[in-house]
Amino acid sequence: MTTHIRISEVGPRDGLQSISRVMSTDAKKAWIAAEVAAGVTEIEVGSFVPPSLLPQMADTAEIVAFAKTLPGLDVAVLVPNLKGAERAIEAGAHKMSIPFSMSESHSIRNVRKDHAAMVEQIAAIAAMVAALPEGQRPHFEVGLSTAFGCTIEGPIPDDQIVRLAEQAIAAGAAEVCLSDTTGYANPAQVRRLVRKVKAAVGADRLNTLHLHNTRGLGLANVVAGLEEGITTFDSSMGGLGGCPFAPGASGNIVSEDLVFMLEAMGLHTGIDIARLGDVRQIIADALPGEPLYGFVPDAGVPLGFERVAA
Ligand code: ZN
Repeated sequence: MTTHIRISEVGPRDGLQSISRVMSTDAKKAWIAAEVAAGVTEIEVGSFVPPSLLPQMADTAEIVAFAKTLPGLDVAVLVPNLKGAERAIEAGAHKMSIPFSMSESHSIRNVRKDHAAMVEQIAAIAAMVAALPEGQRPHFEVGLSTAFGCTIEGPIPDDQIVRLAEQAIAAGAAEVCLSDTTGYANPAQVRRLVRKVKAAVGADRLNTLHLHNTRGLGLANVVAGLEEGITTFDSSMGGLGGCPFAPGASGNIVSEDLVFMLEAMGLHTGIDIARLGDVRQIIADALPGEPLYGFVPDAGVPLGFERVAA
């Protein structure tokens, strides 16, 4: 196992787009700045989708511009298509990810594109990135969504995921990420799929897992990923967004609990868990009454726990 593990905070994107309320631009900035102050080095700050579809993300360009002023932060965004990628490049995002649904029915229903059309889209974005001057090219990642199962198709065959991961890399993506969009993953499956995809595309082309905690297996899945060499995990402060189908379950895995687990295991995140409490307060104040999840924020850290890893 590597000893340094990166946490990529996705709450300002995945969390906020899952709730109907719109967080103010100022509150988003305060959240992001406080989290960087706590030691977080990568944040997915928004997504470039049409504001008519997701008014929560209408200020993404302004948020990217602000986040870029924070030292040491890799500013990531989600892009649904070529148009979104153009906006991300214009805004100067350091990293952009496009979701590529491993379930073709889900892909057609969500973005009206079959797998072949998605691969074309990925190739077009990769070509656009490659045409930029060196130093201005964002890191382009493809998120293999519904990789652990789909609400329409159920299980997706491993071979199909491996084949589509290979196509994404061949189309010019720098990296792929396995995403448990539906919260279906279990640790044995995580281990198996990470191993197969790394073997197919190269170990250094799969470094990140995007996990949800819908069925309570989020942190167990993290441990399985760690054992297979995963070095970056997406998570969300307070598991913001929840899961509409599972009341009481967080959405993404909870950043606070993830930092605690990794640090307690002797791994280094560079994140000061006590200062994450300040971040949580900013979110609670900005979205009064919105459920925030996590065990460590309620229970506190154990006596003798080393709080500051950095
Ligand atoms: Zn997600």
